[in-house]
Amino acid sequence: MAGEPQDDCLFCKIVAGEVPATVVRASETTLAFRDINPQAPTHVLVIPKAHHADAAALAAEAPQLAADVLREAGEVARQEGVEEGGYRIVFNTGAGAGQTVFHAHAHVLGGRGLTWPPG
Ligand code: C5P
Repeated sequence: MAGEPQDDCLFCKIVAGEVPATVVRASETTLAFRDINPQAPTHVLVIPKAHHADAAALAAEAPQLAADVLREAGEVARQEGVEEGGYRIVFNTGAGAGQTVFHAHAHVLGGRGLTWPPG
């Protein structure tokens, strides 16, 4: 069911403390941790603690939580010192777009020049 922890979900396991992660920030409803395969000097994932499959499902099922994730993404950028230089918030949505973990997450990328369009 939407919002409930899923046994086979890696990010639910990180929320539960069963899989380690380098946490940089947490709120009552969200967790932010460093990506294990960073694509930029700053590469942090911001996730809702509750399980929602992707960004669109999150927004439909729990709009306030979607807003929490976006707010925390901005706070991560400020905390990491990349706000001024510009940063990117990315939600890969669907396997065809590169989503590999089906628990909604915002990638916060910064600390280098970011080209457009993304590859
Ligand atoms: O958008 P996508 O679903 O591909 O993003 C998943 C991200 O989770 C990847 O960037 C991957 O490096 C990261 N990851 C992680 N810690 C894990 C497993 C995956 O940071 N234990």
